Amino acid sequence: MSASTLRAAGMVTVVVAALLGSAFALGRSLMPEQPHRGSGVAASVHAPHYGDQPPSTEFPGPPAGHGEPSPDASPSAPDNGRRADDSEGPYGAEVSTGSARIALTFDDGPDPQWTPQVLALLKEYGVHATFCVVGENAEAHPDLVRSIVADGHSLCNHSWNHDITLGERSPQAIRNDLMRTNDAILAAAPDARIAYFRQPGGAWTYPVVSVCEELGMTPLHWAVDPTDWQVPGADKITETVLTQTRPGSIVLMHDAGGDRSGTVEALQRLLPELLHRFQLEALPTGTT
Ligand SMILES: [Zn+2]
Repeated sequence: MSASTLRAAGMVTVVVAALLGSAFALGRSLMPEQPHRGSGVAASVHAPHYGDQPPSTEFPGPPAGHGEPSPDASPSAPDNGRRADDSEGPYGAEVSTGSARIALTFDDGPDPQWTPQVLALLKEYGVHATFCVVGENAEAHPDLVRSIVADGHSLCNHSWNHDITLGERSPQAIRNDLMRTNDAILAAAPDARIAYFRQPGGAWTYPVVSVCEELGMTPLHWAVDPTDWQVPGADKITETVLTQTRPGSIVLMHDAGGDRSGTVEALQRLLPELLHRFQLEALPTGTT
């Protein structure tokens, strides 16, 4: 081997070592390393579940926390969402109801299979919740949007088509996306008040928060994430919610985007238990 070949080989080794080092550092920076897993790290795990996305890299994958960060892991949260007692999530997004009451939130619908089951359970237990709906789903299922409103639940804009990278687009593109979504919701339920926006994947950016507030919506994050989109089973979903929910918690679940039978089964067990411990509320819309 010539000296130059050796030098080249040496360079490659250095570069590979450096890349491995950064990947390790990146992994560490994205990993929830401390016990308060439910308090906002979910920015990285809410992302890849949306039903319209191809079931690519994450499915089937190892459970979260087994090493590699999700390829969709959000780099957005400036503090990695690690503080356990935050009253604010990434970029000031809400993670707490601001009172002792807790709020259940259901994302990614409406879905003709799962949303009616969730609505039926909430009605059975007299619980009001908040639904973070995707614009194209609202347009496809206006009857379900009306059912959500008619049952006394509140609404949250969850972008037109669950665009996890929405926050990286121009303010005008973000504005158009959010307004199009609101228009679809209002076409279904003209009297609805859409007081909240939740960024898909929790991938908040300053522009998305800014436009969201400009349009009169409060950025809504969460405090408790049972990662039900990963289909961990009803037992695990139930356990996570019961062990992590505290007064004021905003709890993230999904009524769309995949097989939600585990979520529905968990909800059936959770509702009586949560009602025993907490008051539950639909996040207020400012109209009542
Ligand atoms: Zn979502």
